[in-house]
Amino acid sequence: MSRHVREKDKTLTPVLILGTVVLAVCILICVSYVIDLRKRYIQDTENNFRQHMDMAGLVIEQSFDQMLQNTTAAANRLEQLEKESTDVDRIQRILLEYRNVNNLDEMIYVKKNGMTYFYEEQPYFAMSEKQLDAIIVDQTIITISNDNVVDDTNGIVVVSAPVHDGDGTQIGSVVSVKTLNGILQNHSFAYLRDSGQMFLIGKEGYVYDLAVTQERQIKSKETNFFVRLRSMSKGSTANKQRIQTLKNKTLASNVVTGKLKGADGADLYVIVDKIDTDMSLYLAECYSEEVFAGRLTPIVNRSILVCVLIFILMALVIAFMWNHMKRTSDTIRKLAYMDSITKGKNFNYFLEKAILIIKDNQEIPYLVQRFDISNFRYINEAYGHIKADELLTVIIMEGEKVFGSKELIVRMNADQFVLLVQNSADYLNRFAIFEDNVNMRALELGIKFPIRLKSGIYQVRRDDYDINVMVDRANVARKSLSAKSKEMYAYYSDRIINDMRKIEKIESEQQTALINGEFKVYLQPKWDINKDKLYGAEALVRWIKDDGNMVYPDTFIPVFENNGFIEQLDFYMLDQVCAEIRKLLDEGKPAFPISVNQSRRLWDNPEYVENVERILRKYDIPSHYVDLEVTETVFFGERDKMIEIITQLKQKEVLLSMDDFGSGYSSLNLLKDIPFDILKIDKDFFSESITSNSSILILTKIIEMAEGLGIHVLCEGVETKEQVHLLRDIGCQYVQGYFYSKPIPLNDFIQKYVS
Ligand code: C2E
Ligand code: CA
Ligand code: CA
Repeated sequence: MSRHVREKDKTLTPVLILGTVVLAVCILICVSYVIDLRKRYIQDTENNFRQHMDMAGLVIEQSFDQMLQNTTAAANRLEQLEKESTDVDRIQRILLEYRNVNNLDEMIYVKKNGMTYFYEEQPYFAMSEKQLDAIIVDQTIITISNDNVVDDTNGIVVVSAPVHDGDGTQIGSVVSVKTLNGILQNHSFAYLRDSGQMFLIGKEGYVYDLAVTQERQIKSKETNFFVRLRSMSKGSTANKQRIQTLKNKTLASNVVTGKLKGADGADLYVIVDKIDTDMSLYLAECYSEEVFAGRLTPIVNRSILVCVLIFILMALVIAFMWNHMKRTSDTIRKLAYMDSITKGKNFNYFLEKAILIIKDNQEIPYLVQRFDISNFRYINEAYGHIKADELLTVIIMEGEKVFGSKELIVRMNADQFVLLVQNSADYLNRFAIFEDNVNMRALELGIKFPIRLKSGIYQVRRDDYDINVMVDRANVARKSLSAKSKEMYAYYSDRIINDMRKIEKIESEQQTALINGEFKVYLQPKWDINKDKLYGAEALVRWIKDDGNMVYPDTFIPVFENNGFIEQLDFYMLDQVCAEIRKLLDEGKPAFPISVNQSRRLWDNPEYVENVERILRKYDIPSHYVDLEVTETVFFGERDKMIEIITQLKQKEVLLSMDDFGSGYSSLNLLKDIPFDILKIDKDFFSESITSNSSILILTKIIEMAEGLGIHVLCEGVETKEQVHLLRDIGCQYVQGYFYSKPIPLNDFIQKYVS
């Protein structure tokens, strides 16, 4: 079974592999698509931010430029005015005018002596010495600082431009102030503020727009951007290093980008863009991956969905294929393990399953039993093979009823069965019940012939592992029961092993024995009891060994019939007999018919008739001196072919005897259909039945009928005078038996009976 399961597994494996590969490829494509998309989003987002930062940088530069231009223009106007008058009103108007152009937070005019003009109030000495030193510088300066001039939280941009008198000597400076807040309110910064955090930072990372950033609710009031970055990200060493590199690079290049792990675990991206080289002013933007992650999530989800769908689809396909293959392989397995005739399990199944049962139930003693149906040939012959097949099926059906789940019964071939059965005290009883049931069912089928099962039984031992060996041994035991034996079962035993050895010995010697002439013809007379004289003789083989020991045919004939050597032996006997007849004829002595036993195997040879004819021709003897004895079993099976052979033999005019009639399942039909000359009633039938009146009646009728058909009847095994009388009374003319003589060597026979 396992072999078929493995085969099924093998066919499924490529499907599974293919499925897994397809799935893996799909997942890979999805994953790489998502990764690629993420990269693109990162890049897009960065580009987007950088565009906005460029714009924002431009806005800042423009505001600075405008402040510079405006302040310079105001300074020029004041220079003009100073040449004409120093009217405070006019100064205030100019200051207001230019302050409004730029929407500045403050525009003042500071004279060298410290007098400071405001657009909204009267001038006064508002500046300290130190402040004057910083302001009265003869060049236009722009600075950015956090000097809490306007309020204490916002950075400011301060521009101062010199004002000269007619000689070109500086008399003061115009100073304009604008809060960074004022600049950064521009909508150009909206995106940078809304999508992340924007910082305006100076050299070393000083954050100028603290107020702006604080509006964005940044917890730390830390004024250094890089320190602040640390608190925004996880304080890991990797992050620290990254921040440090960012800081270093900021000094060196125009745009620097970096990535940190944010405190919330999401990636934090940083872009630092230099705006103004003179003032070392930078715009910095920090944004979390959430900016694009939101857009990525549905795509990732969709990809996962696609993978899951593909997976489900694959699983369905594989499940379908698996199911289909399982069904196919189940059918194949069923067929592979099914016996075509009985529809039960077959021998292959037995071989695989029996050993498993034995292994799994080591505590149970098991028997392996091989059995067949006695004279199944006859059932085939008499009832036809359809009925015979039905009988085989019945055996399996009844067997499966009687023998349980831990037991097994199968048909091997023909009428051969094998059974694995638990050995128990009632085991033979169970087998008898099984046999009875079979007989009952056979009767229902119309088979009136008793079904007898011949078994060879092997007792399974603990160390047995080869089921074939066990079956073979059971078979050896079965074969040890001879066809004629009344024993219906035999155990595999030492005796049987012994017998096997004997068989092997016989087989090893057979050929040399034949060449050396160890097979001798013995003759037993056939007596005509009406005329009380010799009628003929039967040739019976004896094996006289070198040492003079005599072996009887019962020992070796079954062996030769089994191995085919019988063909050589039977022709040798026929040859010897014909030679003797020739000799008698040559010597002018009265010859008599001599019968020779012909084993059924000889008839299987298509050249049989020809071979017989060749011997007859070789010795050139009238064929009616030769009598061929065959048993009725010859006609079981291919009856028509056998009748054909018989007809051919009859044409050669040899005599034909049906041997052992009444020992088996003699069919009277045979007598009608087949032209025998002599019907030999078996000695067993005769000795056993002769005492009962009905048997005598049957015998009388058989003799009457046979003689009516022109067939002579000869009774074998006649041992007493009484038997001779009785046989004579019921019309039997020919007898053979110890009463007249045992089989004796050919020469002795000639001496005794031929004068
Ligand atoms: P079979 O052909 O039925 O031969 C008759 C057997 O009955 C012979 O046994 C014979 O000795 C025995 N017999 C004769 N009269 C009596 C009697 O009054 N009482 C008893 N109890 N037995 C009697 P044998 O010679 O031992 O042969 C046994 C069987 O061996 C033969 O049975 C025959 O089937 C077979 N056989 C013998 N020789 C040959 C042979 O050359 N070729 C073949 N194929 N078979 C042979
Ligand atoms: Ca015989
Ligand atoms: Ca006989």
